[in-house]
Amino acid sequence: MPQPSKREIRCDVCGQNFPSRAVIPASLIRGPVTALIREQHANWTDDSHICLPDLNRYRTDYIEKSLIEERGELSDLERQVVDSLREHEILTENLNQDYDQQVTVGEHIADIVASFGGSWTFIICFGIVMSLWITINSVALFTRPFDPFPFILLNLVLSCLAAIQAPVIMMSQNRQESKDRLRAEHDYRVNLKAELEIRHLHSKLDLLLTHQWQRLLDIQQLQTDLLEEIVEQRSPKSQRREKNPPTGS
Ligand SMILES: [Zn+2]
Repeated sequence: MPQPSKREIRCDVCGQNFPSRAVIPASLIRGPVTALIREQHANWTDDSHICLPDLNRYRTDYIEKSLIEERGELSDLERQVVDSLREHEILTENLNQDYDQQVTVGEHIADIVASFGGSWTFIICFGIVMSLWITINSVALFTRPFDPFPFILLNLVLSCLAAIQAPVIMMSQNRQESKDRLRAEHDYRVNLKAELEIRHLHSKLDLLLTHQWQRLLDIQQLQTDLLEEIVEQRSPKSQRREKNPPTGS
């Protein structure tokens, strides 16, 4: 193994000797890159040195590794979004449609009767029929009316109508009530889902802020280091050294 001369330092990664300005001590290298070097060179300590070509290679490796990891995390996020979208679709089903499918014929008729009984159409029709009935039986006094004053048959008809209408309206109300209860449960489920979804979003944001932001910062620091090295190599001092190389080299 070649022994390093006075102005040369041995690189502990490739084992070759380099001029002192082409070798970097371990203390000046950023943590994540140090970890990557230690993965492949277990005996690389804080007192070791590394040559610039090796260091640049490890820097590139680190950036590539981070980008690949980031892509993996992004596809994980995408998968989670797709999953949650699918679940959300199941939750926000059309409740009215489902409920209307289970309705029996009797309940359907009760609904129609109740909605007609509670409309202005019913009141107007009812008023017209009553006035016709009373008019016919009052004006036709000269003949023999079918329901003379005080209209006992009309009273009977009205009582029958009221007796039938009350249970029909109650039936329809019960149905409406159970529908409302279902809707309330469904709203609760959707709210719960939304809350979980928001919590999920928070954790995603945290992940972005901590992991990926930290990684981006690391990459940026590496780039800054590289730029500084380039500036140092291009500085007038080192250029002069290149133009007038010291004797003996
Ligand atoms: Zn080396």
